[in-house]
Formats: sequence, structure tokens, C-alpha cells
Amino acid sequence: MFVFSHPEFDGHEKVLFGHDAKTGLKAIIAVHNTARGAAVGGCRFWNYESDAAALTDVLRLSRGMTYKSALASLPFGGGKSVIIGDPKKLGSEAFFLAMGRLIDSLGGLYSAAEDVGISVSDVEAMGQATPFVRGTRAGEVGDPSPFTAYGVFKGIEAAVAHRLGRPSLKGVTVAVQGLGHVGFDLSRQLHQAGASLVVADLNRARLEEAQQRFGAVACDPQAIVGEAVDVFAPCALGAVINDQTLPRLKAAIVAGAANNQLAQARHGDVLRQRGILYAPDYCINAGGIIVIAYETQAKGARHDRAKAMAHIDGIHSTLLEIFKRSDRQGLATSEVADHMAEERFKAGCSKAA
Ligand code: NAD
Repeated sequence: MFVFSHPEFDGHEKVLFGHDAKTGLKAIIAVHNTARGAAVGGCRFWNYESDAAALTDVLRLSRGMTYKSALASLPFGGGKSVIIGDPKKLGSEAFFLAMGRLIDSLGGLYSAAEDVGISVSDVEAMGQATPFVRGTRAGEVGDPSPFTAYGVFKGIEAAVAHRLGRPSLKGVTVAVQGLGHVGFDLSRQLHQAGASLVVADLNRARLEEAQQRFGAVACDPQAIVGEAVDVFAPCALGAVINDQTLPRLKAAIVAGAANNQLAQARHGDVLRQRGILYAPDYCINAGGIIVIAYETQAKGARHDRAKAMAHIDGIHSTLLEIFKRSDRQGLATSEVADHMAEERFKAGCSKAA
């Protein structure tokens, strides 16, 4: 497995492979770019089919965090970590302590937070071995998912206003793929706003709960991408916009929480050519990392919830700017977002959020 010549390497500053024989921990920490500050990004716990798949994932996710934090004007660099293994079989306190020690060995270059397969308690367990964890209850934020969901909701509003010319989500149809931490709360907010929902998840209990609470129509996970709706909201895993799914997509808008929704960068342009408005993933799903930037860091300091929410509201205007630039310049929204983020992280960061 080659790292420096890996197609997703993209000039990463540091890639650390860690192993703890006692607990069975196998993990990779990737730090992409620290021009705007030390890297902050989630830790994903996933039963990868191979070490190579884990490396690809961590490199893509870490790079995405550089772009996400820069576009949201946060004083963070980009990094991410992955733990390789089955969360159902591994995950003792000693296991997460070992992960904490691995994070600590970077001396603050990277701080971890919750991601797929990792709970707030897991992050707090890592925090017993290192101060470099974020999104804990001590910081008065805890699980950032509801904030991510709120940002995605604001982003869907922006996309619907721009593409469909509709001032609210009343009567808008949305297909939500994945009813996890983010997708379920997003569905709640969409339902409250009067949207009609089609939902899919591998977990039957979540599906039934969404049917009962939000009047959602359940759909087969394989079929949801082809639903005739206004908005397709990917809230499960990445690479859902690809050569196989694109011909089946009927929605006018793709706007959801999942990271790395485009299997390849060129798929952003295919969406544009087909007249499908794409809300770049790392812009619309930045609510969680934004609230983390406002969490309590010092003893006695207070978490400023109102400021954090106002910052998340800004996702709406950032997206409108991306959509307008994309129309003016004839470029994919994903490309416009990349240019805006690159301008910001290449300039570094002089002031805190
Ligand atoms: P989660 O693990 O809580 O939820 C994912 C859900 O998707 C699960 O319910 C799972 O059963 C379902 N799922 C998996 N494969 C599926 C498939 N093929 N079809 C339908 N459903 C499927 O994760 P989450 O925290 O809700 O995050 C969802 C996505 O949003 C991830 O891509 C994550 O990286 C991204 N994201 C999350 C946050 C956050 O704050 N949690 C922030 C930014 C981005």
C-alpha cells in the first residue's frame, strides 16, 4: 500500500498508522493541512473491507475537513481518523484509551470528535488519555449531529429557493437516505416545515419510527436514489453520486449530510449539465464542526450557543453565493466551493471564529 503516490494523497502533512496489540486497536490519523490552525475532524469506526479502503477513506475525509473548515471560516485545519474493525466486537474502554494515546502522540496537531460508529462516550473515553478531543459533554456541546442536521435544513431551504423559486419547504418532497443521527433529526425538521418525506434505512426500527412520527413513506434503500422528488438528501455514506446512480436520479436538487457524496470530482459537472443543483457536501454539512468551534475550551468559560447558531445560519448565504457564482461562471457548484475554500486556506487564518 503506497501512501505518497496514493491517488487521494493530495499533499497530506502527516499520516500516522497506530496499532495497540493489547486491545486490538488499528487506526490511521490523517492531517491534510494546518494552514488555518491545528486539524479538527471526526474519528470513524468502521469495519473496512481492507486496510487500503481505510486509507482511502481517511485521506478523502481529512482533505474534506480542510475544505469544510476553511469555507465555514473556522480557525481549524483538516484532519480525520479511522479505526479499522467491527464496532460490535471491539470498543472496550482500554481500546478507546489506546486511541486517545495515539491522538495525544501528535501533541495537538489533530483533535478528534464523533463520527460514524463513534459515540460521544467513546470520544470522552479517548479524552481520558488526551486533551485533544472535541464535542464532549464537558465542552457543553456533546453530539454535534443535531447542529449538522440544522445546517443541512438551512442548506435545503437555500437550494429550494434558488432552484425551485420556493420561499419555504411547505409541500416540497424530500428523499432522505439514511435515518441515523443526522438524517432522523433532519427528517423531523423537514416534517415540521411542511415537507413530504420518502425515507430509506437499513434499520427497520428507524424506518417505522419515521413513518409514525413524520408521516414518511418508506422506500427500499436500493431505490431511494431514483425517487421522483424535489430534493434527494444523502445522509448515509459517501460516493452515492456515481456513474451507476446518476442516470437514475430524478430530483432537481441533491442536498444532504453525507461526506464525499460525489464518487469523483467530475460527477459535480455531470450534475450541473443535467440541471440538478448540488449543494456541496462540506458546505451544507458544516453545522457540527461550527458548533464545536464554539464549545467551552477553558474552565469557567461559557459555550455561546446563540453565536454558534448564527454562524450555522450562514450556511444558507454561503450556499446562495456558491449557486450564483456557479450560474455566472458556468462551473459546477462543487468546483466553485473548492475555489472559495482554497482561497481561504491558502491565505491561512489570522483570527479565531
Ligand atoms: P449514522 O451512522 O448515525 O447514520 C447513518 C445511517 O445510514 C444509519 O442509520 C444506517 O443504518 C444508514 N445507512 C447505511 N447504509 C445505508 C444505505 N445503503 N441506505 C440507507 N441507509 C443506510 O451517521 P450520521 O452521524 O447520521 O452521519 C450521516 C452522514 O453524514 C455520514 O456520511 C457522516 O460522515 C456525515 N456527517 C455527519 C456529521 C455529524 O455531525 N454526525 C457531520 C458531518 C457529516
